[in-house]
Amino acid sequence: MRLICGLVGLSVAMFSMSAIGAAEGAEGIQVASDGVEPFRVIGNIYYVGGQYGSYLITTPEGHILHDTGTVDMHELIVSNVEKLGFNIRDIRLIISSHAHWDHIEGHAAMRRATGAQVVALGGDAVALQAGQDNSALGARGWEPVTVDRVVEDGDTVNLGGTTLRALWTAGHTQGATMWMTSVEEGGQTFDVAFRGGEVPNDGAPLVDNPRHPTVVEDTQRTLRRLKELDPPDLFLHNHARTYPALNPDLPVNPNCASCLDAEGWRAMVASAEASFQSRLVER
Ligand SMILES: [Zn+2]
Repeated sequence: MRLICGLVGLSVAMFSMSAIGAAEGAEGIQVASDGVEPFRVIGNIYYVGGQYGSYLITTPEGHILHDTGTVDMHELIVSNVEKLGFNIRDIRLIISSHAHWDHIEGHAAMRRATGAQVVALGGDAVALQAGQDNSALGARGWEPVTVDRVVEDGDTVNLGGTTLRALWTAGHTQGATMWMTSVEEGGQTFDVAFRGGEVPNDGAPLVDNPRHPTVVEDTQRTLRRLKELDPPDLFLHNHARTYPALNPDLPVNPNCASCLDAEGWRAMVASAEASFQSRLVER
C-alpha cells in the first residue's frame, strides 16, 4: 500500500481559469495508457483512475467507488485497486459525479465485476438505466446499468463508518451530484467534496432543449448553492487539469493532479459562473 509523502503542495506553474471552466465533461478520449499509478490522496480516499478521476473510498466493511470512467478504463481501475492491496469484490457501492460517458460508461462492467450497488440521483439514475445521455449536451450513450438505489438531494450513503452526502448540482447533467464527506489525516478532520458538475458543456443548447428543458434554471440554482456553501478543505475534481498550487498545509498526496483547495474551489465556481452568464447573454 502506498503512503502519502507528507505536507507537500502541488507545484503547478501555470493556472488558466479557462482550464477549469465550463467546458469540462464529455470532451476528450480516455484510454488505459493515460493511467497513472494509484495513490492514497488523503485519509481513506485513493486515486484509482487514469486521465479522469476515479476514487476509491475504503472502509472496514467494504469500499465505495466514485466514477468508473470509460469501458477502456475498467481493467486499469481493477488493477489499480488491487495494486493498493484491496479486493475488487469488496467494493459495495458505486457512485458518480454525473452521467456522461467519460465518467460512468464503465458502470455496467464494474457492477458485474464487483456485485456492488449502483447509487445515483434523479435524472442521472434515469440516464444510467436507459444508457442514454439525457443532459443538455446529449453525447454518446453507454451500456445500460441497473441503478440499485435512487437518492435525492441531501440523502446519504453510509458504509463502515464513512458517510457521503449528496448535493444535487443539476446543470451539467440532470442529476450531477457533489458527494461530500470528511476524513481524518494527521489527527485533523478535513471536509472533502467530490466534484459533480457546475454548468452545461460548451455548445450544449440552453434554449428549448428537449433533453433538459429546465437546464438554465437548474444551473442557476446550482451556482447559487455552490456559492452559498462553505468551501470544502479539499475538492476532488473528475478531470486532471492544471490547477493552482495547493495550500501547503493541506496534507494531500503531491501526485494528486485533480486536487483543489478551498481557494481553488472558489476560483472554479467563479469561473463557471462567469462563463455561464456570458452564454446567457449570448443566447
Ligand atoms: Zn461531463
